[in-house]
Amino acid sequence: MKSRPIHIVGNWKMNQTLHEISEFFIQMTAMKMELKCKAWIAPQSLHIPILKEIAFTTGAIQVGAQNCSHADSGAFTGEISPAALADMGVEFVIIGHSERRTIFKEGNEILNQKVLAALKHNLKVIYCVGETLEERESNTTFKVIEEQLAVGLKNVPADKAHLLLIAYEPVWAIGTGKVATAEQAEEVHAFIRGKLTQNADQTIILYGGSVKPDNIDSLLRRENIDGALVGGASLKAKDFKQLCTSASVI
Ligand code: PEP
Repeated sequence: MKSRPIHIVGNWKMNQTLHEISEFFIQMTAMKMELKCKAWIAPQSLHIPILKEIAFTTGAIQVGAQNCSHADSGAFTGEISPAALADMGVEFVIIGHSERRTIFKEGNEILNQKVLAALKHNLKVIYCVGETLEERESNTTFKVIEEQLAVGLKNVPADKAHLLLIAYEPVWAIGTGKVATAEQAEEVHAFIRGKLTQNADQTIILYGGSVKPDNIDSLLRRENIDGALVGGASLKAKDFKQLCTSASVI
């Protein structure tokens, strides 16, 4: 039995129609899950209210956002206010996903502002870190991650540290089918835990990168891997349920 609660977090990215969402939950309900892990889903922001409503009736699933602004309100067309997310009863927000870092050019400094803005509203934050293939091959993985942690988590108030989760997502493993070995992942997770200056023993550290029902068990058996952030496999109710079931028996 793990000392920290296992979290399985689905990142639906820019996918799913209303019809697909309704099918997903019909199938989830039919499978009657007895969850001992925490099951969270981050849909597209415009689907958050509908997902909260459906997830409420199925009981077990918490709903979050994939991104938020550094500001509470104002002239930021197209952005998502952390104040509005909190007002809506959203549980968590993912900040610093590699797609935000690479496609939307979000660097550690702006991500730090987003982390602080979300924590101010008592949203749980999943802060993502991870190296590219080039960085791994040039042996700079630990340097890159240390910087992402040091800058991205600067000035997190001590009384908010319990709201913080970290996701280690090697960029070369996201959506590629290449999963880091359990040894590779555990090595980085242990490094991350060692770098946390607050609440280190209790902080949930998720692994993300091509997690599937057939590779999750070996990852979750590692001491410092407390769950998974899952893209592709979280879109299918059968796979998501299987991931949660694996997590419930470890
Ligand atoms: C992700 O989007 O965070 C992710 C890990 O995607 P995938 O599981 O598809 O690799």
